[in-house]
Amino acid sequence: MKIAFFDTKPYDKPSFDRCGALHGITFKYFETKLNEDTVDLAKGFDGVCVFVNDTVNAAVIDRLCEQGVKVIALRCAGFNNVDVKHAFGKIHVLRVPAYSPYAVAEHAIAMLLTSIRRIHKAYIRTRDFNFSLSGMTGFDLHGKTVGVIGTGRIGRVFIDICRGFGMKVLAYDKYPAKDLKTDENLQYVSLDQIFEQSDIISLHCPLTEETYHLIDETSLEKCKRGVVIINTSRGALVDAEALLAGIKSRKVGAACLDVYEEESDFFFEDFSGHILEDDVLARLISMPNVIVTSHQAFLTEEALENIAETTVNNLVELSETNQCPNELCYRKGKAEDCTAGKCF
Ligand code: NAD
Repeated sequence: MKIAFFDTKPYDKPSFDRCGALHGITFKYFETKLNEDTVDLAKGFDGVCVFVNDTVNAAVIDRLCEQGVKVIALRCAGFNNVDVKHAFGKIHVLRVPAYSPYAVAEHAIAMLLTSIRRIHKAYIRTRDFNFSLSGMTGFDLHGKTVGVIGTGRIGRVFIDICRGFGMKVLAYDKYPAKDLKTDENLQYVSLDQIFEQSDIISLHCPLTEETYHLIDETSLEKCKRGVVIINTSRGALVDAEALLAGIKSRKVGAACLDVYEEESDFFFEDFSGHILEDDVLARLISMPNVIVTSHQAFLTEEALENIAETTVNNLVELSETNQCPNELCYRKGKAEDCTAGKCF
């Protein structure tokens, strides 16, 4: 089986080559992202392998089908960049539902600790032999209230870590988990209660029409002064301009952003020699209480290995049985159920 691999980074190749070789799958690596301009590169391949910032809209799907491509293998969990409804019945769409929830949850915690304990500032200071502690006062996590939005695989790991710190955990999920509902150390509350009562809010839900700009001017108004916002999920969950305004007005005490609404224009690439065109991103990065990482939360050795293994297994299973449990919409099998997030 021949697969065209888009948006390739050097760290992708070793694990995919290793896992592919075990099952007779060869990958042709393209650095470019998949979109309407690059889709013809997929001609002659059995499938494409794509990541979070590739564009898999209706036009791209139609062109892939015209070229005889049979499968789109997402090497990620989120699928908001895929027009799943349009793909239904035309082309298989596979994903990697879980690869390491620990990678993402631990990164969220790393960003939280970095921001509130000013580790990013201390690192720069001590490298310059500046051992002053002025402006470095943080706060204890112990006893603070954290609001977790989305209690799926990553949210659960994040909750476990927060409990280790002795934090009070509030949670909101559109589909609360039965086992967590009866958990004495966790309280499911409404979104408004999350906003009103949390010292720290961490987002772990998918991006859907419903969750688009979940954090915006209105929700930030309801929040406690000094609230810390962590987003390791998808950029468009947060209205970046509203967040910036919240930081300027001191309503937001810190922001930890691994994702950004317009990240596909910048993230994963080196812009160090360029003028950054996005004023909102540039202003956010300039803030002393904002930590930005470029969609790095998934990037651990364990996660890369799991991503490659599951992607290859998905392709093998589909080719051998014409079915795959990690196929989007496989469970319900009706196009009208294919709105992202609904079928799972
Ligand atoms: P998951 O499917 O296990 O959990 C998502 C949870 O969100 C579910 O419990 C679901 O019921 C809930 N949910 C759905 N709609 C909701 C809504 N409207 N409001 C509140 N909750 C809602 O997914 P996961 O593996 O925990 O991943 C969560 C998100 O993390 C993914 O959607 C993806 O966008 C993001 N992610 C980011 C990275 C990264 O590197 N930064 C890596 C992997 C995943």
